[in-house]
Amino acid sequence: MPKTMFKLDLGKPMEEQAHPGHNRWHPDIPAAFSVDPGTAFRMECKEWTDGQIQNNDSPNDVRGVNLERVHVLSGPVYVNGVKPGDLLVVDILDVGVFQEYEWGFNGIFAKENGGSFLVDHFPEAQKSIWDFEGIYTTSRHVPGVRFAGIIHPGLIGVAPSLELLREWNRREEALKATNPDRVPPLANLPTPESAVLGTLKGADFDRVAREGARTVPPRENGGNCDIKNLSKGSRIFFPVFVDGAKLSVGDLHFSQGDGEITFCGGIEMSGWIDLKVDVIKGGMEKHMIKHNPVFKPGPVDPLYSDFLVFEGVSVDEKDGKQHYMDANTAYRRACLNAIEFLKTLGYTGEQAYMLLSSAPVEGHVAGIVDIPNACCTVAIPTQIFEKDILPG
Ligand code: ZN
Repeated sequence: MPKTMFKLDLGKPMEEQAHPGHNRWHPDIPAAFSVDPGTAFRMECKEWTDGQIQNNDSPNDVRGVNLERVHVLSGPVYVNGVKPGDLLVVDILDVGVFQEYEWGFNGIFAKENGGSFLVDHFPEAQKSIWDFEGIYTTSRHVPGVRFAGIIHPGLIGVAPSLELLREWNRREEALKATNPDRVPPLANLPTPESAVLGTLKGADFDRVAREGARTVPPRENGGNCDIKNLSKGSRIFFPVFVDGAKLSVGDLHFSQGDGEITFCGGIEMSGWIDLKVDVIKGGMEKHMIKHNPVFKPGPVDPLYSDFLVFEGVSVDEKDGKQHYMDANTAYRRACLNAIEFLKTLGYTGEQAYMLLSSAPVEGHVAGIVDIPNACCTVAIPTQIFEKDILPG
């Protein structure tokens, strides 16, 4: 078993840890530890809200969650000898749960506090708790299903350069300025509120807290991509923007459906991850991997082979407006079609929504050329249900 290089006390908030992690992206957040290329190591991770969500039956904690606190990340890891222009190679050797924390949660964020993909249809907060038994999970809040998770980090990324950070802040400020009062917001801009920045103190803390990018969106550094198949055995190639690359990880999911549509999120959990790092010198230019990470999925996946697939096209459900090739609308329609069907099996809309966000559901862009309709699909594995769900 690799040596644990980042250890946590699950009972304490991130800033009170022996070595605190961080919840912003900034090149000046100090590394938690350093390793040589070729080294494998273990990092412990807290669930993304830093312990705000409890194992109970009330969604009040989801409704009132402090979103300035997310995502609490483990790291950064400084990889010796790695320079901007290199590729950082990261193998996800294994991911697992803690014995004292064999459960996770999914939640629908309230419209006024975060929102979600189907926010206009589901504006109220809701929560489901999922219990783990080995590779399987079940929920007292979504009965009649049991499935194997594809366990993965929702968030893994490297630090931006100062130049890249400024570009993120510029473009996200410009987007937000187009509708500054929108609920939920168009973007989450930097804020010192609830910032955790490793061991930074004093004036440096204040500056980095003011400038540091929020961890919510995925960006050029990877980050919160929420890719369910970025699981055990995957190899990721990250473009490197700062000395040492400064790799961070967190937001572990026991399982997740494509799109993570309820926003809170997959099945969110605390746990550990074993990583191995290496470097390809000058790899960004050589392999033209410059703008976003590239990865090879691992070979460990549950063998679900039978699906019921729901289609959606880019026509707005509210007013029948024809959108041009809009995959967002088409995916929303596919999800809504799946939810309406699941309701005929006895689920509430909220239960069906949380199931789509938690189970290993496949989302695909089927067609993006057949003007004016994009077609997206949502594929639900039929074998996760206790009973036969096929029509007829
Ligand atoms: Zn997550």
